[in-house]
Amino acid sequence: MERTLIILKPDAVNRGLSGEIITRFEKKGLKIVGLKMVWLKEGILREHYAHLVSKPFFPDLLEFMSRSPVIIGVLEGRNAVELVRSMCGVTDANKAAPGTIRGDFALSTSRNVIHASDSHETAEKEISRFFKKDELFDYGLNNIKYLYADDEMKQ
Ligand code: UDP
Ligand code: MG
Repeated sequence: MERTLIILKPDAVNRGLSGEIITRFEKKGLKIVGLKMVWLKEGILREHYAHLVSKPFFPDLLEFMSRSPVIIGVLEGRNAVELVRSMCGVTDANKAAPGTIRGDFALSTSRNVIHASDSHETAEKEISRFFKKDELFDYGLNNIKYLYADDEMKQ
């Protein structure tokens, strides 16, 4: 099964949306295999957002993401990377479809409540950036047979 990384950003934490957002993923059937609160500092944010350093909004992004603790999680499930991105909605929350997390809980491009890995390759890098091996848990979900057909469980 595929794994992906999410970050509930400082706006989600400070607006009291963390539980509601995590609930959406749980209700969908995604398995939480790692979850923690972290106060991100400049160094790790520069690494995480390395592709954006030259953008005019980068200083604001750094300040915003280090303004308070965030909640970081790893979710596991069938096609998890693409699925979680689609549940989040597009970057500009104003344009994100109703029913998505950004579409329902935000209206800004920068204060858009959640980060999610954008590809399988990025997910692997991001999971190892934020989680040690012993912070991720392999366990059997007791309802797995009600979530997937047998052939889907092997994917
Ligand atoms: N961002 C911003 N202004 C912009 C574009 C992006 O502040 O014009 C921030 C926003 O928080 C976004 C993050 O930079 O979530 C990463 O940008 P990316 O294009 O990777 O979007 P995402 O993958 O988060 O949808
Ligand atoms: Mg991105």
